[in-house]
Amino acid sequence: MVTKDTVSIDVHKTSHSRISELDFNNISFGKQFSDHMFMADFKNNQWGDAQIVPYGPVMMSPSTSALHYGQAIFEGMKAYKNDKGEVLLFRPLDNHKRINISAERMCMPAIPQEYFLEGLKQLIKMDEAWIPTAPGASLYIRPFIIGTDEFIGVKPSDTYRFYIFTSPAGVYYNKPVKVLVETSFIRAVEGGVGYVKASGNYGRSLFPTKLAQQRGYDQIIWTDARNHRYLEESGTMNLMFVIDDVLITAPLGDTILAGITRDSVLTLARDWKMKVQERKISIDEVIDAHKKGTLDEAFGTGTAATIAPISQIGFEGKDYILPDTKGRIFSNRVAQELENIRKGRAADIHNWMYKI
Ligand code: PMP
Repeated sequence: MVTKDTVSIDVHKTSHSRISELDFNNISFGKQFSDHMFMADFKNNQWGDAQIVPYGPVMMSPSTSALHYGQAIFEGMKAYKNDKGEVLLFRPLDNHKRINISAERMCMPAIPQEYFLEGLKQLIKMDEAWIPTAPGASLYIRPFIIGTDEFIGVKPSDTYRFYIFTSPAGVYYNKPVKVLVETSFIRAVEGGVGYVKASGNYGRSLFPTKLAQQRGYDQIIWTDARNHRYLEESGTMNLMFVIDDVLITAPLGDTILAGITRDSVLTLARDWKMKVQERKISIDEVIDAHKKGTLDEAFGTGTAATIAPISQIGFEGKDYILPDTKGRIFSNRVAQELENIRKGRAADIHNWMYKI
């Protein structure tokens, strides 16, 4: 069934599309799912049984290992329709690389590129009509892999399933976000799994985030586990500051997810000859810049939100209000440029768009 670099996919088309249930003028994030999903199974040490089937519930045994010990990893990526009506993915090879970094850390098998890409291509072609075209809208794509052994001893699963499903997405945050610097709970530690997209990273973040939301914030800023001084990430976003015309973000390491949007923003900033620093940045430095009036911008970067401007930072009982988002030169420019590249309105000099 599988040759070296092609995958034959068994396709079962739905007899009843649900697309008429989608209101293209009113799409919220993550609630509606396109007609089909892709699946492949890992057993006897190899991937096989690639298929596309109608999206829907899957049967699994209560003893399925991923449900107990967290061998579960995922990706988040997007497909767009450009102004010519062509369907494009944004940097899918980078998501493929990253899911395999997650797989290695979680003791799971790598997914071969041909499965990842062919699965994506065929699935998205079939459900192309689900891609919204309004400004800021896209088709969100969720590839994931879980351990599927029916066994409750703690050990790596021998069998796995890879899925891809998609979900039409509108704007993730419809206003600038208020963030709280978290100084007691932690997301990631050195030697841990913060640099991979393991499901458990997200489960552990919910309680501290809920506490912050009860206090009126949208999200938290995670700080380093040792000192709670250095700012790492916010929600499902990397974190960036513009201080005195310099773009600053935490360096990659084992506590930071290597965001593809992060890399894209840094690349564009460097193209524009802006000074970029990937280095530790402390809350003290940010407050100091705020006091001096040199904290021009703060924002999160991520696939779901793209560029999410931060309007307010809470720390130790005080709120620091940031400059109005309309006047933020860099984040507005970079958000616009990314949208232009995706829509085919600006040259894609880094070959980020992958036509399917
Ligand atoms: N950090 C975390 C913890 C995330 O979950 C995400 C979303 N994948 C990001 C950062 C941003 O990564 P990307 O730009 O690749 O979406």
